[in-house]
Formats: sequence, structure tokens, C-alpha cells
Amino acid sequence: MTATVFPPAPTVLAAVDGREARFPVRRIFCVGRNYAAHRAEMGGDDREPPFFFTKPADALVLSGSAIAYARATSDLHHEVELVIAIGTGGADIPVAEALAHVFGYAVGVDLTRRDLQAAAKGKGQPWDSAKGFDQSAPLGAIVERRGSDLKGAIRLDVNDATRQASQISNMIWSVPEIIAECSRLWCLAPGDLIFTGTPEGVGALVPGDRVRAAIDGLPELTFTLA
Ligand code: MN
Repeated sequence: MTATVFPPAPTVLAAVDGREARFPVRRIFCVGRNYAAHRAEMGGDDREPPFFFTKPADALVLSGSAIAYARATSDLHHEVELVIAIGTGGADIPVAEALAHVFGYAVGVDLTRRDLQAAAKGKGQPWDSAKGFDQSAPLGAIVERRGSDLKGAIRLDVNDATRQASQISNMIWSVPEIIAECSRLWCLAPGDLIFTGTPEGVGALVPGDRVRAAIDGLPELTFTLA
């Protein structure tokens, strides 16, 4: 084994529903502005197609965790999203073949430092500090659904009040289109996660909030803000 100058960080592991075995996470890709009603609430141009940004794999937080209110922000927002777990890699995957690359699906929340994002947008700067910070990717257990699509209702409640409620079918890019588009820009690999964008109703979280995120057919994602 190759010597290292300090111990390497452990592989980030996501939970797989009903299985002892975990899902080793490689990269986290995210789609921006994939629901028209959210694009509108963010003041986006309605002709602008969705796009990608990334989070580091170690931003992942398992369901049931207490998450510290993020540093360097006073406007931490929730964004509930369907997450695709990739089981088979590839580049330039045709839309018609995209579902064959799916391992399964999970509920995720793309936590966002909205104040830093607004500042970055204003200066034409990248979004990394607004999106890719520590503990910014809470993720529920992945349900194994190899080769299949997923549709249904998507919802996020804060302290038992519903903040976001929509349907996966409202996505601008469908699951197969997201996989195909992502694989045009990166060679996808087993372990990659793709957050597919949030519906309307994003808003601020405060310390003490209890968050419950749900998608039909998937285990709920819950976390509290410490
Ligand atoms: Mn998002």
C-alpha cells in the first residue's frame, strides 16, 4: 500500500434503504433552475436552460443528523430535491439509454447560503461558497431502483408546516435528460450523485428548525438545525 503523509480521509458513504451495504459517494453534481416556478421566484430568465454546479462529496450529511447552522451566512435556505444515484458510468450517454445508468434514488436538500449566492450573482462570480460548503448536502437513504425512472410528489416541511410542494413531473429536464446532459460534460462514474433541482417555495431556516423532506416512494429525509 502506498504511504501517505497523513491518513487519507475516509470514503463518504450514503445509506441504502433496507441494506447493510452502503453507497460509496464519488462526486455530487447539482442542477440549477430545473423547475419553472422556482426559476421565476429567483428572478431567472424563462428562456435560460438549467445548468450544473457541484458540491464536494464530504458535504453529505445522513438523515437524522443535527446540522450546525452554516457559518458565514445569515440566510441559510432549504431546497428539497430528487437525487439520482449513478450505478454505471459513461460519457455522452444517449437519453434513451440513460435510465440503465441509475442505481437508485433518494431525497436530498441542497442547503444554500442565499446571501452569498446573491452577492456572487451580482458580481458574476462562481457559486462554490454559496452551494458547496460543509454539511450542505443532507441525503436520505437511497432506494435501489436500477434502470427505472421516478415520478411523484415532492415536499418539504419545516416544523410541520409545508414550505415546498410540487411534482417531479414539473422538472424542465427529466431524469434521463439530466443524466444525458451531465454525461456530456463529465464522464459519469459509479458513486456519482445528481441533485436534480428544487421546486418553488425555498426559504430561510433558523436554529432549532426541524426539517422533513419527502418524495413518493422514498424514505423521508429528516434533520434538525442546531
Ligand atoms: Mn438546488
